[in-house]
Amino acid sequence: MSLSFAPETIALPKAHFIGGTYVEGPDAIEVRAASDGRALAAIPCADAAMVDRAVTAAQAALRASGWAGWQPRARLRALYAWADLIEGEAGRLAQLEAVCSSRPVRQALEGDIRVTAEQIRFFAELADKEGGDLVPTGAGRMGFIAAEPYGVIGAITPWNFPISMAGWKLGPALAAGNAVVLKPSEMTPFSTLCMAELSVKAGIPAGVVNIVLGDGPMTGAAITGHPGIGKVSFTGSTRAGSAIMENIARTGVKPMTLELGGKSPQVVFADADLERAADCLARGILPNAGQVCVAGSRMIVQRGIAEALTEKLMARFAAERPAATWDDPAGFSPIISEGQLNRIDGIVRAARAQGGEVICGGARFDHPGSFYQPTLIAGATEANPAVTEEIFGPVATFQIFDTEEEAIALAGHPTYGLCAGLHTRDLSRALRMIGALQAGTVWVNRYGRSLDHILPTGGWKSSGLGKDLGRDAFLANRRTKSVLIDL
Ligand code: NAD
Repeated sequence: MSLSFAPETIALPKAHFIGGTYVEGPDAIEVRAASDGRALAAIPCADAAMVDRAVTAAQAALRASGWAGWQPRARLRALYAWADLIEGEAGRLAQLEAVCSSRPVRQALEGDIRVTAEQIRFFAELADKEGGDLVPTGAGRMGFIAAEPYGVIGAITPWNFPISMAGWKLGPALAAGNAVVLKPSEMTPFSTLCMAELSVKAGIPAGVVNIVLGDGPMTGAAITGHPGIGKVSFTGSTRAGSAIMENIARTGVKPMTLELGGKSPQVVFADADLERAADCLARGILPNAGQVCVAGSRMIVQRGIAEALTEKLMARFAAERPAATWDDPAGFSPIISEGQLNRIDGIVRAARAQGGEVICGGARFDHPGSFYQPTLIAGATEANPAVTEEIFGPVATFQIFDTEEEAIALAGHPTYGLCAGLHTRDLSRALRMIGALQAGTVWVNRYGRSLDHILPTGGWKSSGLGKDLGRDAFLANRRTKSVLIDL
């Protein structure tokens, strides 16, 4: 059955969701469809007073419901019920996701939403499995480490995978007994609002999940600087991550998790399975038009297979056809905005001016809307902007190496260290390379996350601080208290 829909037929939620109800505010930000730039709705931009109202509602909900003190399995059941409702409303959620973002409706329905529901269940299951520790002490004393939620978590998410990113923040925070004030990207707020609405229907106390709409400088800063926020959990660019660190340092120190940008390499040795490697290289940069934090945007290939691999990639890249996100079957995703498309094109032009050879793509599609051709740039040196900048578009560089040492040197990036891909059949080499690669995640003979939610994700260096997913994300939503008792 086709999932195509007409964007003008979708009812869009467009107010803050605070204390379990929608709270209107004056129109301030126009939300546009990535696919064709049409104006979809105007949303409000929460100021410090509105953020304070959300934090106060969260604190009141924690007090009134005793959420943190619920029997852990009762929290688990509420989160399970929420995950079931999210799956039950997958059709509506997929439309709310696709209407504004770069996510094609079928991918949202069959991928993002189902995975998000499952990840919420994963975190729910930790609610009664992770406790504190009784520790060895000297005679006549008893010591233990208690683990407690922070209270109210302030979460901020990006536009590239709105539902998934909201799930990554809300799942572990709620399972650990916190309330949340979350600001979705001002470009993609609708699906997150719908998820919040469903949380109340699932029996999660009203006010435990609050959504404030707005931009980064006003609303985001009001969240990160609010004294009632116990911890900040952010996913977005390294630039915004730095601004958040600064604001937190200025307004009162608090812990933070930062999932930031990347410029990840995929290293292919000549002994790799060529078909599989070509598929991984293509799937590392084509989905969501490369607007993926873990995009494998730097292809680093051993000389003997470079020609064969470029041919396969060029055929794959050239086969992509753009389509609006509300069309089914899906096509190549749009760039989120015209401004971002111009930025991508600017970097490609600069790359060319600095000696890079555009061997495929290199221009916008001749198609209405902000669509950019899958682009491959060869011959770029290490200082070329296409090699150094996070482009956040369907643009990859293709660099050639001879020795393992050269591969390691090319794979390193001066600032980013989010993830890396490695393709080889030589186990010893794979293990040496895993040790040498500077990244929070290494994928070998594959590229991309799996359904193994137990694996944490997070960057090294300027790609981030702390982890999402895995047990680590649950533990990061609690703080410990050391207790010592003289008996
Ligand atoms: P962005 O940094 O522009 O915005 C992300 C969010 O932060 C938005 O909600 C925005 O309103 C808010 N924001 C912006 N400035 C802020 C400030 N000063 N204070 C508080 N909040 C602020 O990023 P984007 O363009 O929405 O998303 C793309 C970026 O996100 C890329 O760099 C990508 O790599 C990164 N990302 C990282 C991961 C990861 O897991 N590491 C996942 C997805 C996206």
